[in-house]
Amino acid sequence: YRAKSAGGGHRFYSPEMGERLRRDLELVQRFGQALHNGCLQLHYQPKVSLADGTLTGVEALLRWHDPDWGWVSPADFLPVIEERGMMVRLGEWVLAEACRQLCAWRDAGLPLPPRVAINISAHQIDEKDFAERALAIIEGAALPPSRFEIELTESSMMRDPRCAMDVMQALVEAGFAFSIDDFGTGYSSLSYLKRFPVHTLKIDRSFVRDMFEDGSDHGIVRTIIAMAQNLGLTPLAEGVEDALQAASLQALGCREAQGFHFGRPLPAADFAETWLRPSRSTDSL
Ligand code: C2E
Ligand code: MG
Ligand code: MG
Ligand code: MG
Repeated sequence: YRAKSAGGGHRFYSPEMGERLRRDLELVQRFGQALHNGCLQLHYQPKVSLADGTLTGVEALLRWHDPDWGWVSPADFLPVIEERGMMVRLGEWVLAEACRQLCAWRDAGLPLPPRVAINISAHQIDEKDFAERALAIIEGAALPPSRFEIELTESSMMRDPRCAMDVMQALVEAGFAFSIDDFGTGYSSLSYLKRFPVHTLKIDRSFVRDMFEDGSDHGIVRTIIAMAQNLGLTPLAEGVEDALQAASLQALGCREAQGFHFGRPLPAADFAETWLRPSRSTDSL
């Protein structure tokens, strides 16, 4: 199918392509079942303030456990799901599941994280009715849109900027926040950045990882933080794995962080146990 997406021209068949096609079709079929039979889960990773370590939000990350294949990594299955046109259905499942979890925490009397962030792909933000459908799901759960945040990459926003802008504006008016994920790795135009209703720049993990070994990565981290500050956006560092990175990022003016140093993505129950203690944080609904 990669040959197909390359568009036009000659197509030729090789055994590897046949094998890949067979595997992808099986993946799509198994994933379709997983959507219905409880094999998909969201795990939750904290976002914290670098100033005082308090919880500023949480990112929901998709996990798939197949009975025969075991855990399948999002990096392996998401591209196939997207290519096969299942991303919109998956996205609705993710949002509904995040709503269900927030309601469960609320009903258990736990303090809720300020915001729950979900990741969306280009195909979702390019759907004209995405905002409407997202708001309908949240309304159905009787949750305020201001509890939600959406993470998307620069390239997702730029595929159909006009449509993305409309969808984002409608959701921001309703109370949603937006983060640009993996910031610095994509094609970004500063003028677009100014015009899109974005709240947070998530500095890509690769720059944070190499910031002490690679002077240009250090420069990129500093530049993104300064740019966020100048545009009135919150800089957040992804993939912070040790105390030295955390301290240096804070000294550079980075406001928030995420990474194994603060907390790994956890199943909902473990996340609540560690992060949603009544003394620990935040307000309830
Ligand atoms: P992302 O949104 O940039 O998520 C961050 C990824 O980095 C996650 O990988 C997370 O587990 C990992 N991570 C977090 N902190 C650290 C750290 O300190 N060190 C290291 N080495 N890794 C860290 P994950 O869960 O495998 O997700 C990969 C990507 O899959 C995500 O990147 C996101 O683009 C996509 N994804 C995940 N869930 C969803 C979803 O529900 N919908 C969509 N459309 N995409 C999703
Ligand atoms: Mg993300
Ligand atoms: Mg990221
Ligand atoms: Mg990523």
